[in-house]
Amino acid sequence: MNCKDCLKDISDYLEGALSDSLRRELEAHLKTCRHCKVVFDTTRKTVELYCDGKLFPLPEDVRSRLHAALRRRWEEKQA
Ligand SMILES: [Zn+2]
Repeated sequence: MNCKDCLKDISDYLEGALSDSLRRELEAHLKTCRHCKVVFDTTRKTVELYCDGKLFPLPEDVRSRLHAALRRRWEEKQA
């Protein structure tokens, strides 16, 4: 898994929507990639705040905003 795929899958992961194999790939990537780990931790906090710690699908607008924010953050880290 590369950073782009990881980033794309983070919100699905946090919603519990990823398949087992993808989840394992993502976890493996997070262990080796600090950029994605930081983004992951930040996103998890955001989702936890939003969902009050409960996992459920995010509304589409929240989801797309989250994706945009993730991409921005990731690009800043790459710069
Ligand atoms: Zn990465």
